[in-house]
Amino acid sequence: MGLINLLRLRRPKGMHIHLRQDDLLKLVVMFSNIYGWVLDIGNLLIPIKSPEQVRRRREEIEANNISFKFLLSVMLTEDMMPDLLEECHEAGADVLKYQPFGTTTNSQFGVRLEKLREKYDVLERALELRMIFTGHWELPYNPLTGKDIPLPLREELSIPYLSDVIDYFPGLTIGVEHISGRPMLQFVQQAPLNVFGGITAHHMGCTRADMRDQGSFNPHYSCRPVLKDFEDCLALMTAVSAEDNDNLIFTPDCAPHLKERKETMSDPPVGIFAPGHIGIPLIIQGLENVGLPIRETALNNFFSYNAERIYSLPPADDEIVLVREPCIVPAEYNGIVPLWAGRQLNWQMKEY
Ligand SMILES: [Zn+2]
Repeated sequence: MGLINLLRLRRPKGMHIHLRQDDLLKLVVMFSNIYGWVLDIGNLLIPIKSPEQVRRRREEIEANNISFKFLLSVMLTEDMMPDLLEECHEAGADVLKYQPFGTTTNSQFGVRLEKLREKYDVLERALELRMIFTGHWELPYNPLTGKDIPLPLREELSIPYLSDVIDYFPGLTIGVEHISGRPMLQFVQQAPLNVFGGITAHHMGCTRADMRDQGSFNPHYSCRPVLKDFEDCLALMTAVSAEDNDNLIFTPDCAPHLKERKETMSDPPVGIFAPGHIGIPLIIQGLENVGLPIRETALNNFFSYNAERIYSLPPADDEIVLVREPCIVPAEYNGIVPLWAGRQLNWQMKEY
């Protein structure tokens, strides 16, 4: 097969974006307009967990110049109850999002993984309401000793808890957000049909080496789950480029923090600003660099069709165009350092 210089893809879905609030909201919205649909993650400073918040959130997002449609999520917190979930659903939330306590930004309100069973009545209601339950699957603490578990092991060690949910709720659509390593990928690939996995551009295109910049820690590549090894990237890319990628979707996990906070705090916030116009070309470039095929069918499934099926969205009716045209990613946008800042991309999005 000859070198491809132009790619037309169905308009992608961004099914995991932290649209944030205030000035950050404006910025993330601007960079999210390439998507047909977006799933907003409700882990705000005050997590979204009431019908009033759901309604306010919709207004907050719609007050911007958006060209995407969006789904809203409510958070599975300690105080979430089945009836409250139902009220949130009636107010317009379609997704129940789970961040275990201690895993990531604003997860201090999340239910501990080892206590998730106490919330199965909420999951039961989610099933009845046909809501999607999607989670950040990591075990941050040893449940016996309370001691921290090393970052690279956290995702894999959450699998038994995830497995329990899957066994208990064969009818519930269950998401595994931002798969980062081979054990979780293999688990999702062998899981029943009601389970799907999300993959980010940074977990495919970056390794833990990117967290070191000339020997020192680079907070702009710090995220959860933490970046893994090349073998993990290769496994993720292989899965995405395969024809049978039906239960994998693109979850950009665009999660910006101000450069100043990232660079000056002793314990910098985790999350990568990963807008689609960088993430999507980075994925294409990654596939090429490791010698994997660029198949439009597989890419359209991953970026668009699979999410349409899983989230029951109307089909995309337009396209984006990528061209092979090298460019350097800017060092920052409005005080936020993006994914791949200062590095070369071989592809650019042209019409979107
Ligand atoms: Zn996220």
